[in-house]
Amino acid sequence: MQDKINLIGHSEESLEIFFKNLDEPSFRAKQLLKWIHQKGELDFDMMTDFNKDLRKKLNEIAEIKAPKVLDILTSDEGTKKYLIELNSGSSIEMVRIPEKKRTTLCVSSQAGCALQCTFCATGAQGFDQNLTSDEIIGQLWIANFLEKNEKPITNVVFMGMGEPLLNFDPVMESIDIMKNQTAYSLSRKRITISTSGIVPQINKLAEITDVSLAISLHAAENKLRDIIVPINKKYPIKDLLNACKNYLSKQKGKNTITIEYILIDGINDTLKHAAILSKKLSNLSCKINLIPFNHFEGSEYKRSTDKNINAFKNYLMKKGYIATCRITRGDAIDGACGQLVGNLKKSIKGKGVIHHTSIH
Ligand code: SAH
Ligand code: SF4
Repeated sequence: MQDKINLIGHSEESLEIFFKNLDEPSFRAKQLLKWIHQKGELDFDMMTDFNKDLRKKLNEIAEIKAPKVLDILTSDEGTKKYLIELNSGSSIEMVRIPEKKRTTLCVSSQAGCALQCTFCATGAQGFDQNLTSDEIIGQLWIANFLEKNEKPITNVVFMGMGEPLLNFDPVMESIDIMKNQTAYSLSRKRITISTSGIVPQINKLAEITDVSLAISLHAAENKLRDIIVPINKKYPIKDLLNACKNYLSKQKGKNTITIEYILIDGINDTLKHAAILSKKLSNLSCKINLIPFNHFEGSEYKRSTDKNINAFKNYLMKKGYIATCRITRGDAIDGACGQLVGNLKKSIKGKGVIHHTSIH
């Protein structure tokens, strides 16, 4: 028997094609999106505006399945980390970050990552697999509907495991559903793609979407960035900043790029580094988000001292930048940036290692 087709990750356009093939009108797509993504309903038999025959047909050929949650860890300040199982049996992590006026979900786009940034726990694992759009939007579905007492998600950031621009189409299909008014109805400003700087994909992105873009810069000189963000050897800083300008030039409304800059003790955190950064960004419309390095097992790097973090931030502010420092949330549960590892089934880098998550 053929596998049933999972409809949870289908955009409105692909649902229209699906229903057309069943000789059903295209408005069924909107109806189904509403059931799944606004009411949280996964059972065709509960969808009262579908007639009996259609429900029967849908049950025969399709299903609506969210990924399985294996574990949930909650930190004292309310940040929650979810361990989520993929179809393959590998697992990934997502993080819910509640704040006063919003609740942000940090989603994963890949299990592992091939790019090997030297400060990142996900990168240290190597690449396992791309997520499907079912598995990406499934994270948002889980965060909104699984726990009845939780507030709905208002913001999504692609800052979990993986490089979203190297899993382009599934990420774009999931963003389509996030923005769709019959689904999650999130505005472009409430969805952020964070990338280490895949230049051709940033240019491609500029042609088709207008979501917020965050660039993981972390160093403003090629010599240093080549080491800590190795993809820089392929797409150096000048090309990356040009791609950012191109991205902004294609936007209709006002938009700025977020520059993410991790602060690692003795590596990229002196005032000299701040001065180079300030110069490099001088003609880009951006704000700078400083992220104190989060430690993970096996890393030799250390978080910058508070004194250096403040000096770095003040230097940038004096130069006229909006510079914020990301408060580390979820550190106690290893749910902070760069600490997400999941539990990958495949042996990675030929070492036959199975990486265990820090969830106990
Ligand atoms: N691959 C994408 C998105 C996932 S990483 C990217 O690199 O942008 C999300 C963010 O976490 C990035 O800004 C990344 O640089 C940061 N990060 C990775 N490891 C970190 C660590 N150990 N401490 C703090 N931030 C980290
Ligand atoms: Fe991959 Fe981003 Fe980690 Fe670099 S920082 S290894 S691009 S997940």
